[in-house]
Amino acid sequence: MQTNFTPAQLADPHVAESEKILRKCVHCGFCTATCPTYVTLGNELDSPRGRIYLIKDMLENGRPADAEVVTHIDRCLSCLACVTTCPSGVDYMHLVDHARAHIEKTYKRPFMNRLVRAILAAVLPYPDRFRLAIKLSSAGRPFAGLFARAPALKPFAAMLALAPRRIPPASAYAAAASHPPVGEKRGRVAILTGCAQPVLDPGINEATIRLLTRLGVEVVVPKGEVCCGSLVHHMGREEQALASARANVDVWTRELEEGGLDAIIITASGCGTTIKDYGHMLRLDAAYAEKAARVSSLAKDITEYLASLELPAQMPKGIIVAYHSACSMQHGQKITMAPKQLLKAAGFNVRDPAEGHLCCGSAGTYNIMQSDISDALKTRKVKNLEATKPRVIATGNIGCMMQIATGTAIPIVHTVQLLDWAYGGDMPEKLKDLPLA
Ligand code: SF4
Ligand code: SF4
Repeated sequence: MQTNFTPAQLADPHVAESEKILRKCVHCGFCTATCPTYVTLGNELDSPRGRIYLIKDMLENGRPADAEVVTHIDRCLSCLACVTTCPSGVDYMHLVDHARAHIEKTYKRPFMNRLVRAILAAVLPYPDRFRLAIKLSSAGRPFAGLFARAPALKPFAAMLALAPRRIPPASAYAAAASHPPVGEKRGRVAILTGCAQPVLDPGINEATIRLLTRLGVEVVVPKGEVCCGSLVHHMGREEQALASARANVDVWTRELEEGGLDAIIITASGCGTTIKDYGHMLRLDAAYAEKAARVSSLAKDITEYLASLELPAQMPKGIIVAYHSACSMQHGQKITMAPKQLLKAAGFNVRDPAEGHLCCGSAGTYNIMQSDISDALKTRKVKNLEATKPRVIATGNIGCMMQIATGTAIPIVHTVQLLDWAYGGDMPEKLKDLPLA
């Protein structure tokens, strides 16, 4: 694609990077076929190609974002299916990241929209605040129907629909500690505790720590870890996201220098995509660029790390598992085979749903801010998952777990919870009392 940026515009490294990305796009439109919003809405401006044109026009003319650009960029899930599909290697992820930061700096959103976004950014990344918000949500439930009828209040209705009625107590495993390996030591890793996940389902990190330590790996929960920054990063709140990234880089660098680390284990693929991008996010920060790149190179999804340990194959269990590959897993991190191979080797009968490349509609805060599109995608996803006739659904991202669970009675668990069970751990709580064969 031809571009017309001035030398003065290209002096801004963010613009220079976006220009390089834009020039790679050859307008072929292959990406439209796999874009969930284009497939759902059928509007070119809600396709990757349409959004690329909107971003190009906005940046090239050096103008503030307008309502049209914001509408169509806000509808983008950042699922990155377009990146997987694109034959020209267009780095849409960094282009839309730049567009979102530009929108945040130059566009004044309507009051209610600003309020909801401010609440999400102030609550979700902090486990204690998030826990309190879920507890308080029961008081708001009687008003959910009222909220759903007023467009500006719809995000509150979506929050109430997603908020679980009960949450488990905080886990002792979330506290800073070193969990020693059982038997001969095979490695040492740090684990990202996370922000929303330990509140919604602390059993995921518990299963991870139990499984890894049984396999001979020391697992450190380092002191001072914070949210990875992904939620605010996707809202265009660059400074808040970079502050989180710097804090985590400091924590893991200290751990790396003091005890050595083979990997930084991540159990939510949405976080994994962001942490693997820390090196890029902090590339212009001389004090952090090198440390951040090192952290990114150590970041591993739990299934990536387990695949490197070569677990012994188990007897078939006769349990059908539908595997839902989160967008951040398959498109963001290009991890497609390891989770399924691990589940198969652990004795599960793994099935792939149709349209596995399409997002479930969760996408960070998307299911709150864009609930209509999100609901349509969830319905489609659940139909495809249920068609495989599974006893259980497995995935590697808490956002997808929460989203899909509101659309089906089939239990959904994290892949590592099934693996922990298969390799000597407890059966996941959600599967107890269910006929599994
Ligand atoms: S990230 Fe997903 S929703 Fe956004 S343009 Fe690409 S395919 Fe479409
Ligand atoms: S597939 Fe790639 S090159 Fe083709 S229109 Fe989409 S982004 Fe551009």
